[in-house]
Amino acid sequence: MSDCVFCKIVGGELPASKVYEDDELLAFHDIHPFARVHLLIIPKLHVASLAECTAEHQNLLGKMLLLAPRLAKESGLDAGFKTLINTGRGGGQEVFHIHVHVFGGGDPAKRA
Ligand code: 5GP
Ligand code: ZN
Repeated sequence: MSDCVFCKIVGGELPASKVYEDDELLAFHDIHPFARVHLLIIPKLHVASLAECTAEHQNLLGKMLLLAPRLAKESGLDAGFKTLINTGRGGGQEVFHIHVHVFGGGDPAKRA
């Protein structure tokens, strides 16, 4: 997807502060963090949102979720962390390339 900001990060056309990469996934710091630690986990494959996922994406989604605690731990979020997947305009999604927010280090009672 040539006009997708996250595909551009995957393709190296846009820079990102990467924390993890394998053949299927990429994780990097959110450019506008709303917590002390705020990471985004994305698939290298362009999938617009959770609403576009089918059974063929099951393993990919599982990999994304299982990466969250690993990266949270590596980022020092020993007390816990939050995950968030915004889906669709009504769900607050701004970048239409599926991603899991992993964040923490703020007030646990608040969003961040
Ligand atoms: P959404 O609202 O779609 O769930 O979240 C998109 C997130 O992507 C936002 O938190 C926003 O700050 C982040 N973001 C948007 N563009 C870029 C970018 O070019 N680089 C990085 N690292 N994060 C971005
Ligand atoms: Zn994309």
